[in-house]
Amino acid sequence: RAKNEGRNCFQFFTQDLHAEIITNKRTADEILAGLERGEFTAWYQPQFDARTFTLIGAEALVRWNHPSQGLLGPEKFLGIAEELNVVQALDRIVLETALRDKYRLAARGIDLSRLSVNVSARRLNDASLYETLKDLPFRPGEIAFELVEAIFLDDRDDVMQGNLERIKDLGIEIEIDDFGTGHTSIVSLLRLKPKRLKIDRQLVKPIMNSPKERALVRSIIEIARSLGVETVAEGVETMEHADMLLALGCDILQGYAFARPLSFDDFAEAALRNHWIGERPASRSVQGA
Ligand code: C2E
Ligand code: MG
Ligand code: MG
Ligand code: MG
Repeated sequence: RAKNEGRNCFQFFTQDLHAEIITNKRTADEILAGLERGEFTAWYQPQFDARTFTLIGAEALVRWNHPSQGLLGPEKFLGIAEELNVVQALDRIVLETALRDKYRLAARGIDLSRLSVNVSARRLNDASLYETLKDLPFRPGEIAFELVEAIFLDDRDDVMQGNLERIKDLGIEIEIDDFGTGHTSIVSLLRLKPKRLKIDRQLVKPIMNSPKERALVRSIIEIARSLGVETVAEGVETMEHADMLLALGCDILQGYAFARPLSFDDFAEAALRNHWIGERPASRSVQGA
């Protein structure tokens, strides 16, 4: 009997796996078609000065206007895009869209001092990265690249090192994304000299209830400050978190307490109405995806 059950389990397993492979194959085909049809775009989540709550920048996040499934977030397609080796194309679309949108915002009187885009390890390791960047119209300090810590694991990689230097030479700022969950050592922090650290939301969330995590976040902020590196807290979900993070010395706040990622139009409207600044969270929060 046990044997039978074992076989059934195996059957269910292979059926699930088979279904998953088919779904992934279909998604892969759709991603390639979607790239050709221009279905990928950027949404924006605002970032605020922790002291003044002034809007200072935004993170661009990839979204897929899927023809039948509607708006999809990266968890639905980023993994497959990486396997397909097209995540670089997505990163590039997001950067170019973000640059265009930054000027569209400026034309409406909204001056963001900086836009941050996420850059995959593959793109950072791409020898042609500099060629795709050097002719883009941006000024020094206007663009930041968010890189996850795992990228820096092999910091002797020549292509990557060369790209990092050239990125900095172009005036693009480097941010370490999801800090605290990866493997960055203090030594590589010193060597890399990023402009900013983004403290991962897994560390941010428990700071209200857990003294240990609060102490950890405080230490990260103090180390960063002593190195001249700014700190951004991601996943700031309540105003209590915002107040605590300010008390811990954090420079910049990003999270649902202020706004979710928004389409260009919703972002522009909220920014124009100054909907975020100086209000309590319930009324400040803007709905989005
Ligand atoms: P990330 O770079 O750490 O981006 C922050 C993610 O946290 C976003 O999810 C954002 O919607 C979500 N978030 C923001 N505030 C809060 C909050 O208060 N609470 C909670 N629970 N979540 C919050 P999203 O847009 O689904 O992106 C997920 C990840 O996908 C990103 O994490 C990033 O690693 C990756 N990603 C997004 N866009 C791109 C892109 O253009 N290129 C590449 N290579 N990766 C991207
Ligand atoms: Mg990011
Ligand atoms: Mg992050
Ligand atoms: Mg994160």
